Amino acid sequence: MRPELSEYTPIYSGKVRELYEVDDEHLLLVASDRISAYDYILDTPIPDKGRVLTAMSVFFFDALGVPNHLAGPADDPRIPESVLGRALITRRLDMVPVECVARGYLTGSGLKEYRANGQVCGVPLPEGLVDGSRIDPPIFTPATKAAVGDHDENVSFERVAADVGLDLATRLRDLTLEVYSSGADIARERGIILADTKFEFGHTSDGDLLLADEVLTPDSSRYWDGELYEPGKALPSFDKQIVRDWLTKESGWSTDAGTPPPALPADVVERTRARYIEAYERISGLRFADWPGGAA
Ligand code: ATP
Ligand code: MG
Repeated sequence: MRPELSEYTPIYSGKVRELYEVDDEHLLLVASDRISAYDYILDTPIPDKGRVLTAMSVFFFDALGVPNHLAGPADDPRIPESVLGRALITRRLDMVPVECVARGYLTGSGLKEYRANGQVCGVPLPEGLVDGSRIDPPIFTPATKAAVGDHDENVSFERVAADVGLDLATRLRDLTLEVYSSGADIARERGIILADTKFEFGHTSDGDLLLADEVLTPDSSRYWDGELYEPGKALPSFDKQIVRDWLTKESGWSTDAGTPPPALPADVVERTRARYIEAYERISGLRFADWPGGAA
């Protein structure tokens, strides 16, 4: 008999995920089906999104070969039936308060900074780059975790070193770039570009540094369809393009309306769900139907 979710103490609720205490050493990390767009959590969930992102995270944790926080399989008996497939048992870590971002392409907040001063997080870049330009070699562009509701703040490597020490900062940078490159190689082989991504790391009570949180999911990363890639053109995100297009082009809502976006119609939900599954199956080469927690 699996435990009920209510038997675990909730310890944290993020925008999209929830954490529960399993015991002193372990957590249950639960991904919901909630989706965000334009900084809003939408009222309409995308069925199976939590399972797809969990499956993708596990695929990459396995593929990367870097010590990580997973402490059991996707069907671990400690996982309640109600969240099976979208929850993982992890080691409980003392998280390093740095969002470890790697960028292999220039866009988003990186592009904004570059346009202002030719650098991203203190890393100078060549002149003449445009939205979507490749950054080779990829760069480490850390950010500090903002309080809930605020945007993360891009900071320099020196600032991270001042906060956590030069040794740890250097290890974070090296690991981040190494894992980004492995992930980008895997995605590229499948025709998908991993433009940038964010990792989080934490320490065990023994002082070991582990890769934690979710890894290389569409929520922590920017994926682009390799076939549509064209520097200089705004690049739609592989997973959220359908939702964003519908919101800004068809729904009548606008990003500066100052009101939350409307509910998504069923066909937008279904196409987005299919997109997430396609991303998982394409990148991993695995079948989503084989992942735990599907309708029997
Ligand atoms: P958002 O990612 O939406 O900006 P958030 O980071 O507050 O917001 P989530 O990502 O949903 O919300 O929450 C997951 C939380 O779990 C993060 O605070 C992350 O640092 C933490 N976390 C991840 N793995 C571990 C772990 N092994 N031990 C302890 N905390 C962890
Ligand atoms: Mg987070």
